[in-house]
Amino acid sequence: MKPAPFDYARPRDLDAALTLLGNNASAKVMAGGQSLGPMLNLRLAQPEQIVDITAIDELKLAEISGDELVLGACITHADIEDGRVPDVTGGAMRGVAANIAYRAVRNRGTLGGSLSHADPAADWVSVLTALDARVALRSTSGVRQVALGDFIVGALQSCLKSGELVTAVHVPKRAATAQWGYIKTCRKTGEFAHGQCAVLIDPTTASARIVIGALDAAPVVVAEPAELFGGRIDANYKTTFDVRVADRLLGDAGIVDAAQRHIHVTVMQRALREAA
Ligand SMILES: Cc1cc2nc3c(=O)[nH]c(=O)nc-3n(C[C@H](O)[C@H](O)[C@H](O)COP(=O)(O)OP(=O)(O)OC[C@H]3O[C@@H](n4cnc5c(N)ncnc54)[C@H](O)[C@@H]3O)c2cc1C
Repeated sequence: MKPAPFDYARPRDLDAALTLLGNNASAKVMAGGQSLGPMLNLRLAQPEQIVDITAIDELKLAEISGDELVLGACITHADIEDGRVPDVTGGAMRGVAANIAYRAVRNRGTLGGSLSHADPAADWVSVLTALDARVALRSTSGVRQVALGDFIVGALQSCLKSGELVTAVHVPKRAATAQWGYIKTCRKTGEFAHGQCAVLIDPTTASARIVIGALDAAPVVVAEPAELFGGRIDANYKTTFDVRVADRLLGDAGIVDAAQRHIHVTVMQRALREAA
């Protein structure tokens, strides 16, 4: 199939883009087009107007500001993979980017597009939640910042309001003592994952952010991670990890199928091993 007819605009500055979006509730943002393109072709999306944001230089900026990295929404997966932007995650983001889909998708797919699309199996959705990132959102009525854990509210659902754009992603600097692990499991290379776990764990501060993704919902951030390790996060976390507690936690998160829980627990165990 081919898309329904639409108007196309490619503004060069952010204000112009926001005005277009603010004036037309049926306008749709296009960044890399890697998800929106198929949705248009299948007529799952039939906007009156496409606002292509890839000519807006401000959305391609990347800079370290204090203790965080600010990445413009139109930074591509390939920009991160190739090291064209600074890194504050000790290489964690670069490793993730290199394993998203295949190179043609990575050349065009953007951070902002991936997060706004909110596919539960998208890599950045889980990874940036584990890294405790925030998104900056802008519309003609103002600016706000939202923690990624609050931004993604369900499968393919974000808290973006009509006329609002993701302009940047703020990624906190990873502590020198924090260890990182990320595992996804796919049936075929380059496909979306059916199990994902991102782990940022710091035995020196006994803290951890553990995120389970590729569910039929928003990623699960483990609320009390110490429970997974017998009540204490220390340097032995790889061996104290309790698969029964992890299985119960996934059951509580609504995963009723034991085989699915087994996949997610195994992926979690492998992510912890990688971190260690
Ligand atoms: C074959 C294939 C395999 C893939 N495999 C993977 C994979 O393994 N892992 C993975 O994580 N991803 C995968 N993807 C998705 C891809 O990586 C892109 O990140 C994703 O398609 C969205 O990014 P985009 O820039 O192309 O957004 P678009 O397709 O342009 O837009 C997607 C949605 O986000 C909205 N949007 C875009 N930018 C913004 C913004 N700044 N503010 C507000 N709304 C915005 C659009 O209106 C649209 O609703 C795959 C895609 C394809 C085609």
